[in-house]
Amino acid sequence: MEKKVLVVDDEDFHRELMQKLLSKLGYEVAVAESAEEAFALLREEKFPVIITDLIMLEMDGVEFCQMLRETDTKTVVIALSGHTELYNTDKLIEAGFDNHLTKPINIETISQAINAGFEQYQKRA
Ligand SMILES: [Mg+2]
Repeated sequence: MEKKVLVVDDEDFHRELMQKLLSKLGYEVAVAESAEEAFALLREEKFPVIITDLIMLEMDGVEFCQMLRETDTKTVVIALSGHTELYNTDKLIEAGFDNHLTKPINIETISQAINAGFEQYQKRA
């Protein structure tokens, strides 16, 4: 399985940081600055793991995950936000997230979550 990860974040800084970190960890990384852009990429390619910011203009991360889950129950979706306290865990699980992480980004935590995500994805095959 290709180790492809899609990062969705509306902040340039976080997208670039995640792209650098995840590339260094050996993942193939694609980035999207909005849920709309992410859906466009997902029409072309499969990503076993998606990491999405929660607070975004237009469609936020919760709505993005809910909409994705209407057609895709397999992809592992991880929420990443500086404000996870605004979203309680039950709400995130209900929206279809598999995991959630809090900014600032901790490389070890992210790496562990992604590896667990790939394992989870394969079990769902
Ligand atoms: Mg944001």
